[in-house]
Amino acid sequence: MQQNTNRRKFLLSGAQAVALIGLGGLVWGAFLQESRANPLILRPPGALNEKEFLKTCIKCGLCVKACPFDTLKLADAGSGKPIGTPYFEPRKIPCEMCEDIPCVPICPTDALDSKLVSNEKGLAINLAKMGVAIVDKEHCVAYWGIQCDACYRACPLLGEAIKLELKRNERTGKHSYLLPVVESEVCTGCGKCEKACITEKAAIIVLPREIALGRVGTNYIKGWEAEDEMRLQEAKERIPKRDSGSKVQDYLNNGDL
Ligand code: SF4
Ligand code: SF4
Ligand code: SF4
Repeated sequence: MQQNTNRRKFLLSGAQAVALIGLGGLVWGAFLQESRANPLILRPPGALNEKEFLKTCIKCGLCVKACPFDTLKLADAGSGKPIGTPYFEPRKIPCEMCEDIPCVPICPTDALDSKLVSNEKGLAINLAKMGVAIVDKEHCVAYWGIQCDACYRACPLLGEAIKLELKRNERTGKHSYLLPVVESEVCTGCGKCEKACITEKAAIIVLPREIALGRVGTNYIKGWEAEDEMRLQEAKERIPKRDSGSKVQDYLNNGDL
């Protein structure tokens, strides 16, 4: 423990020094280069989007110091990550989803924003969106038909963020698969599943949400969800008005085909 504390102090003082030297310009250049080199970085709970986070985080290391599980680290020079910024690697140490989220309110600049992890009752770690877990179906042994629910059991949001889906094994005709399926809107990206995965290289990994998930845009609307009303409105504004004098036929709608 003493060793960890010393190491953390060393990292903190190193990062603070780097932040100061960085003002000179030299390290700042390297910092920008490293930030472009590694978009796969996972940030602490409540982090602003990566662009805003990089502008707002002053690399003080207070969040790292506040984390009781040594989950958070400050990026070293040469790590391929923006120097001095906090990140975590779930396969090494996942986020334990502390109820009081000590790493967030301590942030002096709101680079970690309490509002993003709060509801009407106060801090709510379940709202964190550090990333999203993705299952590599090629290498997850459950997709081979071998019984494994290690990730499912490790998830702090048991049965909500990962569900087990029962599917008949067509190959044998006798057995069933129990397949882990991640609910991306519930998953916090804590990485406890990645840590628990039994394969040599994890077959379930946490990725930044903007990299792992698609973006629908305003052209497609579900139409049966209340929050889509706004998107529907936006889409209407973007649809060109039909020229009423045009001879173009709406074959499908008129049943002319
Ligand atoms: S929620 Fe807890 S374990 Fe997770 S990063 Fe913050 S302090 Fe560390
Ligand atoms: S406490 Fe805030 S400003 Fe300091 S390193 Fe953490 S995220 Fe950056
Ligand atoms: S990262 Fe994994 S363990 Fe954490 S909430 Fe998401 S599915 Fe559950």
